Amino acid sequence: MYLSQIARQIAESPTFALNEEARVLRERGEPVINLGIGEPTNKAPMTAILSSSARLTSGDVKYSPPDGTPSLKKAIVRYTDENYGRLVAPENIIVSAGAKQSIFNILFSVLNPQDEVVVLAPYWVSYPEMIKMCNAIPVIVTPEDGTFHPRLADIEKSVSPYTRAMIVNSPNNPSGCIFSDDFIAEIVDFCEKKKIYLILDDIYHKLYFDNKRPAVGYTFTQKDVESTMLIVVNGISKLYGMTGFRIGWVIANRKLVQVMTNVQAQTTSCTSIVLQAAAEGALTGMQSIVENLRLTFENNRNVVIQELKTIPGLHIQKPNGTFYCLPDFRAYSRDSVQLSRTFLKKALVVSVPGKEFGMEGYIRLSFAGSVKDLTTAIERIKWVVDPNSPSEIYIGERKIIRDWL
Ligand code: PMP
Repeated sequence: MYLSQIARQIAESPTFALNEEARVLRERGEPVINLGIGEPTNKAPMTAILSSSARLTSGDVKYSPPDGTPSLKKAIVRYTDENYGRLVAPENIIVSAGAKQSIFNILFSVLNPQDEVVVLAPYWVSYPEMIKMCNAIPVIVTPEDGTFHPRLADIEKSVSPYTRAMIVNSPNNPSGCIFSDDFIAEIVDFCEKKKIYLILDDIYHKLYFDNKRPAVGYTFTQKDVESTMLIVVNGISKLYGMTGFRIGWVIANRKLVQVMTNVQAQTTSCTSIVLQAAAEGALTGMQSIVENLRLTFENNRNVVIQELKTIPGLHIQKPNGTFYCLPDFRAYSRDSVQLSRTFLKKALVVSVPGKEFGMEGYIRLSFAGSVKDLTTAIERIKWVVDPNSPSEIYIGERKIIRDWL
């Protein structure tokens, strides 16, 4: 079959593939626990449901402007002012079908073939694939000190005259790490000086723990939104648990937003007006929903860390935000794909191999689910790997005896 060179090399999304596998198992009645995909389990906020259903029942469901409805943009202007201390114009905003499309649109709009983009490991799985789709080259920088925190010195070594952009995601998927204020200040200064676009993927920016807020990139630049190299990505998926509504947005200079709008107008035309109404409802409604999610995840984080610590040899760096952790399983296996498969086959627990995030030997566990599911899943994982744990376990109704350690 004839397929394009670029399309052929794009990897399947591992999280969606695993999610599908979990769904099939669950439909068969298997007691599978999904710690794979990153999505909160809450219901959508009532204000989001009401505003989108009002639009739907009006029957007036047409195209919206390609860059988003004026009223959603107005809500985003307010959100940006309140959360980032920046007053931006509607012309600095473009709304897309999720932060995922936002990031792709940015990359497509700023990259020429063979340009390089610095990606900090551990990284969100889609960054390298999207960069490759733009015929550009992901340059992966892995912290050399064994932590999940990047260092400017490592980044500097990877920057070349072809470096066009850098992506920073803090709070970070998959590690849960929040990068220090000093690092964000350094990297903002570095990118402004070198004229490298700094894409700040802020999709988890309100999901922080221990009262330590992530730094706001804008704080560290004197430049206004028209002249800064900072591009801020945000969305409703994680903060409001509205993954299925598919709304994300970008704050950038007008010229870039205009180019991104042209790209979007020629590909998807616009994001659904019904779903934009939902996003507007979420942004203008009660914000306690975000705080409730944050507190739930902080509690879940504490439970997960406490349980994981009972597995000997596991090295865990405590997440400061998001709803993921990335324990180091190298004491048990250096093949994270194989190990993740084993967790699914033997213990019916879905996890994501660290290899997908550039961290072989690690396993990403999402703690967005219920405490009961989390403790049960970790008990099962412990049973799979730890020879000192009891050899018998109940998985659902079935009693199973471990016969492989
Ligand atoms: N960035 C990161 C780091 C993510 O983890 C995700 C979702 N997994 C996204 C962007 C995309 O989010 P959305 O649902 O808005 O497309």
